[in-house]
Amino acid sequence: MATSKNHGLTYDVIVIGSGIAGALLACRLAKKKVRVLVLEAGGMPTEIAGRRTLVRNFAASASKGQDSPYADEIKISPYYSSPPTATAPQPTDEPPDPHYTYTDNSLPKFKSLYERLVGGSLWHWQGLVPRMVPNDFKMKTAFHFDDKLQPGVRNWPISYSDIAAYYRQSEYEMGVAGNESTDRALDKQFGLSEAESERGYPRKFRKGIPMSYLDKYLGKKLNGSVFEPKLPGHTLPKIPLRVTQIPQAKNAEPFDGRPACDGHGTCVPLCPTRAKYEALFHVEKAVSAGAELHANAVVTKLIFDSSGKVSEVKYTDWQKNEKSVRARIVVLAGGTLAEDGRTRTGSVFIVNVTSREAAEKFSAEEPFRKAGLFQSVKITRMRRGQWNPGAAPKTAEGN
Ligand SMILES: Cc1cc2nc3c(=O)[nH]c(=O)nc-3n(C[C@H](O)[C@H](O)[C@H](O)COP(=O)(O)OP(=O)(O)OC[C@H]3O[C@@H](n4cnc5c(N)ncnc54)[C@H](O)[C@@H]3O)c2cc1C
Ligand code: SF4
Repeated sequence: MATSKNHGLTYDVIVIGSGIAGALLACRLAKKKVRVLVLEAGGMPTEIAGRRTLVRNFAASASKGQDSPYADEIKISPYYSSPPTATAPQPTDEPPDPHYTYTDNSLPKFKSLYERLVGGSLWHWQGLVPRMVPNDFKMKTAFHFDDKLQPGVRNWPISYSDIAAYYRQSEYEMGVAGNESTDRALDKQFGLSEAESERGYPRKFRKGIPMSYLDKYLGKKLNGSVFEPKLPGHTLPKIPLRVTQIPQAKNAEPFDGRPACDGHGTCVPLCPTRAKYEALFHVEKAVSAGAELHANAVVTKLIFDSSGKVSEVKYTDWQKNEKSVRARIVVLAGGTLAEDGRTRTGSVFIVNVTSREAAEKFSAEEPFRKAGLFQSVKITRMRRGQWNPGAAPKTAEGN
């Protein structure tokens, strides 16, 4: 039942996308008794039939690709075709999709996948979770990028210190195992304080996952040698090489109701025992804490109210029924796709406004643009033919 606090709406917050970003957020909000709805374009993987089915899919596949365990899930979707054509499709690695790029076509292609499933891309991740280092947030100034030669390179609007506390929290939630003393020694090289460097690893995970035979062998050969980076016109510091443990979101001991890692070695794409962290676990916790999950729900439109805030979300289920939900806050926690339905973009907003001036005003006030994160901003009119080429009138304009 709606309360006065949420202005008569069924939900306080709608989270679009159930990958790690959406799952962690939905779980935290639901535990605080916030009314959350998670909308997820993909379906629920075959957990019901048992994780074993997914492991068998992988074992039986010829390609042993990142997608192999989930192939059946993907193909039962009426949207599935190869290459995919409909809203929020699933990019695949079979065959390679030449259109899958994250930026404009003049730049090298970014070839990777995401999983359109409840739990998102953590269904196939490696579980490696080294933190970024302070210079990653200021690439332009730290590495002397030139505005003319490398116009796309930006400093981030936030710094390492701004997010150190969130690193700690997410490391605990995922159950990251890492060697704290090695991590601290590396952090010191980057000038980080003890407080900034503090990790959120659960107590028994602070020695990390033991090194493999290969790690130790490479360490014997490489430790003590030095890498000398070269950049014309600049003197860069030499980097001493040392083979270390990488922090991993894998249980060093039983944790959070899941077993310890016992070295199956199929972490990519799928851990048979749930020892490797997956976003699905926080989706499950969010639902137990009261969040609602609508799977097979492809969000197609965000409706802005007169104050310029998104107040309504329209989505289409796999039977092609259009539905609408409203909340005070809408969070986009999924990657965006361009009009062709398969090109991954930096950020596309489709706004329904009455004039170009209104669109420009919206764009100028958009927080990511204000922070200088976009390489370029292009405002263009949306033609009906772009939504539905088959039904578009056959005019030169196509609208
Ligand atoms: C092979 C591989 C290995 C990786 N290994 C690592 C690693 O070791 N360590 C690491 O830190 N990172 C790794 N990554 C990157 C990591 O997986 C991603 O950065 C992370 O999963 C992104 O999480 P997310 O929640 O932002 O998005 P996603 O997990 O992609 O979730 C987005 C969700 O939104 C849904 N969605 C999209 N559009 C819509 C829509 N219109 N309506 C409703 N729902 C929608 C999608 O179906 C999806 O479930 C790896 C990536 C790949 C491809
Ligand atoms: S149990 Fe196996 S698959 Fe799972 S995390 Fe450990 S090594 Fe990876």
